[in-house]
Amino acid sequence: MALANTHYYATRDPLGQGGDFTTAPEISQMFGEMIGLWLADLWSRTGQKDVALVELGPGRGTLMADIQRSFSKIAGNQTNNIHLVETSPTLRREQAKIIPNARWHDDVSTLPDHLPLFIIANEFFDALPIRQLVQTETGWRERMVGIKDDAFVPIAGSTPMDAAVPPSSRTAKPGAIIETSPASIAVMAELSARVAQQGGAMLAIDYGYAGPAVGDTLQAVKAHRYADIFENPGDADLTAHVDFTALAECARQSGAAAYGPVDQGALLTMLGIQLRAAQLIKQNPDKQASLTADLHRLIHQDEMGQLFKAIAVLPQHWPVPAGFEAR
Ligand code: SAH
Repeated sequence: MALANTHYYATRDPLGQGGDFTTAPEISQMFGEMIGLWLADLWSRTGQKDVALVELGPGRGTLMADIQRSFSKIAGNQTNNIHLVETSPTLRREQAKIIPNARWHDDVSTLPDHLPLFIIANEFFDALPIRQLVQTETGWRERMVGIKDDAFVPIAGSTPMDAAVPPSSRTAKPGAIIETSPASIAVMAELSARVAQQGGAMLAIDYGYAGPAVGDTLQAVKAHRYADIFENPGDADLTAHVDFTALAECARQSGAAAYGPVDQGALLTMLGIQLRAAQLIKQNPDKQASLTADLHRLIHQDEMGQLFKAIAVLPQHWPVPAGFEAR
């Protein structure tokens, strides 16, 4: 999964109608504007001055550009210190077109260590590799990739993995699958410890669930349709649903406070996206239909509103972030 996705993202811009999938910031500027205000609200309530704005997996850079615009309405030129964690050279070139003054990082280890980090990750964790365990007649095994008749097939490994399975899932029926993402946990552990020490906040938005859960969520997407995960590896986007409980638990163990998950629709509504939509419609009456449709896509429960969720990670002594008051 890691190799396939590294090749996939390095060799194309997958976003938008002509690509493979569309993300929230590519639907509407309102998404990034609300997140910029979420960050600015924390910035002002905690009395910050210089901070680093950080994005993990920034795609085309659209989200950071929208964040920068609304954040700077409140925080002034504090938005000049922008750090993008991106492995794809193709997407780095896209990002440089609209955020030319950004600094790029291969991974989170080189992010500034002397400033509060205001971090956003949208549809980042779902692209990181997962491991799967599968229940067999003789206990849990790692699910691996084998070759049969010249084709890739899933096979069960030979090493017993029962000890790695949470107690609530141990007795699941043969064929049951559980997932972990050590790569996601490693990023979360490092950034949560940094946020706890340096100050700042991390908002992670993705499609996912409150674990632990049993189920196979690994999927391939090509041209806005599901594809076979073993067909043309590196040429389709591989994703897995994010276990927000595991990420939040990791943040707490790293010394930070974690809030959520809350649904994307509820969060954006609490942050005032309806007001922003009304304002934009007033300014552009001819765009009423498309703005209304974009808003619907972002917040309605049958669209992205419920499937996508957010968690927030902050220092323990910082205030509860906007939209997470109910925890
Ligand atoms: N956040 C953007 C793009 C999401 S697509 C949006 O919402 O539109 C996933 C992004 O993560 C891409 O920019 C991809 O190149 C990047 N990415 C994937 N794996 C990565 C890794 N291991 N390290 C850093 N970036 C990664």
